[in-house]
Amino acid sequence: MAKMIGADCRQCRREGCKLFLKGERCTSKKCAMERRPVAPGQHGTGRKRVTEYGTQLREKQKVKRAYGILENQFRRYYEEAERMKGITGENMLSLIERRLDNVVYRMGIGSSRSECRQIVNHSQITVNGKTVNIPSYQVKVGDVIAVKDSKKDLDMFKGLKGMKIVMPKWLEFNSDTLEGKVLALPTREDIDLNIKEHLIIELYSR
Ligand code: SF4
Repeated sequence: MAKMIGADCRQCRREGCKLFLKGERCTSKKCAMERRPVAPGQHGTGRKRVTEYGTQLREKQKVKRAYGILENQFRRYYEEAERMKGITGENMLSLIERRLDNVVYRMGIGSSRSECRQIVNHSQITVNGKTVNIPSYQVKVGDVIAVKDSKKDLDMFKGLKGMKIVMPKWLEFNSDTLEGKVLALPTREDIDLNIKEHLIIELYSR
């Protein structure tokens, strides 16, 4: 499977914001954005003139990197969002947020989106009782997402039992049963990344 290449922390430094790619490290003092919040490379601290195109491109890269999505798939989200009613940028973010790997991340089952993608890839998650191993699977309202019964005793999941997990209001998750539900579709205000999605739409509309 194709995947994004590049050291995680360098990606955050390039985008100038925390993308939360490394789980617990991201909220610790070891986070590279706390210690060295400048662009990577020899000229990282230098001032650069940024064009309109450059600003739009950076905004797109920020979302792609945060969610670990490659260009072709990202463009497909944009095209689908354009066909939907409503604001294209918000539709696009909602579609991306509804990916199964992201939902597993939001439910706190894994500590980063890349870990959650692996969990899904390794057939450890069920949707409505059936194993789903496609990270880009789009969840729907009412879907029940759970750790597969035969995997619940793995150390990585046992540690979740009884944990208080903060999650967006469109999801619920019971850390004792390791089962959760999609209560609603995510709206723009549910997405906590600092993104100016209209810039991405302008980029694709060029
Ligand atoms: Fe980004 Fe996490 Fe690395 Fe911090 S620790 S720079 S948030 S990947």
